[in-house]
Amino acid sequence: MARVTLTNLNKTFVDAQSKKEVTAVNNVNLEIHDGEFMVLVGPSGCGKTTTMRMIAGLEESTSGEIRIGDRVVNDVPPRDRNIAMVFQNYALYPHMSVYENMAFGLKLRMLPSMWWQMTHSAEARERKNDIDRRVRKAADTLGISHLLDRKPRALSGGQRQRVALGRAIVREPQVFLMDEPLSNLDAKLREQTRTELIRLHRDLGVTTIYVTHDQVEAMTMGQRIAVMKDGIMQQCDTPENLYRNPANLFVAGFLGTPSMNFVRSARIVKNGAAPLIEAPGLRLHLPEERANALNAYVGKEVVLGIRPVDIYDQAHAPARVSAQKNTAQVVVDVVEPLGSKSTVYLTAGPSTLVAEIDAETQARVGQPLEILVDAERAHVFDTETERAIV
Ligand code: ATP
Repeated sequence: MARVTLTNLNKTFVDAQSKKEVTAVNNVNLEIHDGEFMVLVGPSGCGKTTTMRMIAGLEESTSGEIRIGDRVVNDVPPRDRNIAMVFQNYALYPHMSVYENMAFGLKLRMLPSMWWQMTHSAEARERKNDIDRRVRKAADTLGISHLLDRKPRALSGGQRQRVALGRAIVREPQVFLMDEPLSNLDAKLREQTRTELIRLHRDLGVTTIYVTHDQVEAMTMGQRIAVMKDGIMQQCDTPENLYRNPANLFVAGFLGTPSMNFVRSARIVKNGAAPLIEAPGLRLHLPEERANALNAYVGKEVVLGIRPVDIYDQAHAPARVSAQKNTAQVVVDVVEPLGSKSTVYLTAGPSTLVAEIDAETQARVGQPLEILVDAERAHVFDTETERAIV
């Protein structure tokens, strides 16, 4: 196990056709702790795969430093970085059994002469036993011991994925690098394998860097999540902190489903002691400490952010939210019952709000509804910088 440190990491490609420079990774600084499960997440093209490939040594950085443990690895070839990779396209050798597929990488790491000697010297026999031990242990961890003699064509997609993971585990690396390893699996299997990967990480404790564009995967798997956009690291924190305290509009909108509501025509006004937020059809009083942070914005336009779960049908709101008295009259556009909750689309003045409210709601399409907004959890963003104010 080892920590991984990225310092001022940059990567610029020159587009083969247009000859223009593309900055794929822009001055990324990140420390992944020893034994941590770190997720790199962001939309397509944000630079997460390039970051991963630079850590793996498959791509050279334009500038910056990469350390694995205390060692600077910029000039160390991939095979000597003590890492193991699992990719989306985990091609298994079709003519080899599961056992051979898992053992192959370890055998390859030996010199041919050593391989030949395998059955001829005590040391080589010991090595062979070590490979056997590692393969059987990994197979046991992954629950595929009964499949060791099978060929890949006789396996399901999920089982093949586990063999690919097994191939990485037997290396007993200091760091696992995983690039969208679950995206070829169907939704149910992906969910199941996600849980298995979390358990595996808990059991093995190996530092893991996991790339995905799926924010649900990121939120459920990462001990910390690094959110990227346009090659730039936007924020890195625990899933809870990213969700509760997003640093900017992008992070706020990217994490959480349904997405955070943004009311762009909101304005900070001050009639009494503390500033409050006014938007057409909405007026929010924030708790004093948070409201005071808005003093510098009185008279200015801001972006108000409200998560769908922080909007309540007033008939079903908890006492803590009712006590805030942040009510608004809205009109119900759509009701989507989901069993335990209902997703409702509401019109508040010119704004449309999505809310996840109690399934017992009496909300009916076309009818007015009184809602309550939990202003303790509302977010306010600077219109120009898009950074969070509170
Ligand atoms: P995805 O989820 O689609 O894989 P990503 O976030 O992993 O996206 P990267 O693959 O790291 O993004 O790509 C980042 C940017 O660098 C993109 O604009 C991409 O087009 C560009 N890029 C990546 N590889 C090359 C290359 N070999 N030559 C030129 N541009 C490249």
